[in-house]
Amino acid sequence: MNHDELETLPISRNTFYSLDIFNNVQFEKLAGFLLGCKTEIIEPGTKLIDPENPIQRLIILLEGELEVKVEAQGGEYTDFIKPGHCAGEMSIFDNIAPSATVSAKVTSKVLFVPGEVASAMIRSSHHLCLNFLQILSQRLRNNNKIVCEEQYHIRRMEEYAMVDPMTGLHNRRWLEEMYTREMVRSNKGNFTLTAFMLDIDHFKNVNDTYGHLAGDQVLISVAQTLIRSLRPSDMPVRYGGEEFTVFLPGTSTKNAKIIAERIRRDMENMSISLPDGNIIQVTVSIGFAERVDEDTVASLIDRADKALYHAKQNGRNRVCHNLGNGKMQLMEPSVE
Ligand code: GH3
Ligand code: MG
Ligand code: MG
Repeated sequence: MNHDELETLPISRNTFYSLDIFNNVQFEKLAGFLLGCKTEIIEPGTKLIDPENPIQRLIILLEGELEVKVEAQGGEYTDFIKPGHCAGEMSIFDNIAPSATVSAKVTSKVLFVPGEVASAMIRSSHHLCLNFLQILSQRLRNNNKIVCEEQYHIRRMEEYAMVDPMTGLHNRRWLEEMYTREMVRSNKGNFTLTAFMLDIDHFKNVNDTYGHLAGDQVLISVAQTLIRSLRPSDMPVRYGGEEFTVFLPGTSTKNAKIIAERIRRDMENMSISLPDGNIIQVTVSIGFAERVDEDTVASLIDRADKALYHAKQNGRNRVCHNLGNGKMQLMEPSVE
C-alpha cells in the first residue's frame, strides 16, 4: 500500500493498534480492507443497529459509548460498548437479523465495516478471529451471569409472594400449591396425612382491649410457638386473620392427638409481651381430621374446620377430632 492510499484510510496505524478488536493483528494485513470502510461521528440517541432495519455491517467504536438494548417477552436488558469493542458481529457470523438495538449513548466516533469486508477480514486473520471469540466469550459469560441473577431474583420474588410477612409463615398461595402436591402424593401412596385447623380464642378482645399492634404481636407469638411445636416436615400456614392450618404428612391419628394437645397447652402456657409492656396470655382451639381416600385439600380442611367449630362451641381452648360421618371427639385438656 503506497503513501497516498495510507492517507485515505479511515483510521491511522496508531488508532488501529489502540483498538482491542485488532489486538495482535498486523496493520498491514488489514489495511487493504480498511479502504472499503468509513468513520462517522454519531450524535447521542442515533440508532446504529435496529432490528426493524437490519443492515449487515460491523461497527467498531473508536470514541464515545454505545448502548445495547435487548427487549424480549416484556423483559429488557441493557449493556454498554466501550471504545475498541464492536457491535453487529453476531449478524455477520450467523446471518440472522439483529435482535438488539444499538444506539450512541454520547457523541461517538465509529468505524463502519460493511458485512462482506468484515467477513473477508476475519478470514484473513486468525488473530482477529480470536479477538472476536474473546469478545463473544465475555458477552456469553456476562449474559449467563445476568440470566442466573434474574432467575435468583424471580425465585426470591416467588418466595416472598408465598410468605406472610408478619408471621413468616407461608400463606394461602403456598398452601394451594404445596397442600395440593402433598394430597396427590398421599392419595397415590396411601400415606397418612392429618390436617389441623387452629384459631385463636376471643382474639377480637385482644385487639379491642390492647390495640391492633398488640394483636399483631399475639399473631407473631402464636406462629412462633406453632413452628416450635412442629417437625420440619410439617406444613404450617397462616390461613387468614387469626387462623392457621397445618398439614402433617405421615402423622398417625394417635400422634396427631398428642401433637394437637401439646400445641394447645404450649399456647396456653405462653406469656406474650406486648409492645406497651403488658404481658398477656391467649388460648387456641384446634380441630383436626385425617385424610381418607379421594380427599381433596378442600374436603380435608373442611373436616378439620368443622372439628374446630365444635371445639369453639364446647368451651374453646380445646382440641377436637373429626372422626368422620359427622362424629366429633372432644379431647380432655391435659394440664402440665
Ligand atoms: P373466636 O374465639 O370465636 O375465634 O372469636 P375471635 O374474636 O377470635 O374471632 P373473630 O372472628 O370474631 O375475630 C377475629 C379478629 O381477628 C377480627 C379481626 O379484626 C382480627 N384480625 C384478623 N387479622 C388480623 C391481623 O392481621 N392483625 C390483628 N391485629 N388482628 C387481626
Ligand atoms: Mg378466633
Ligand atoms: Mg377466626
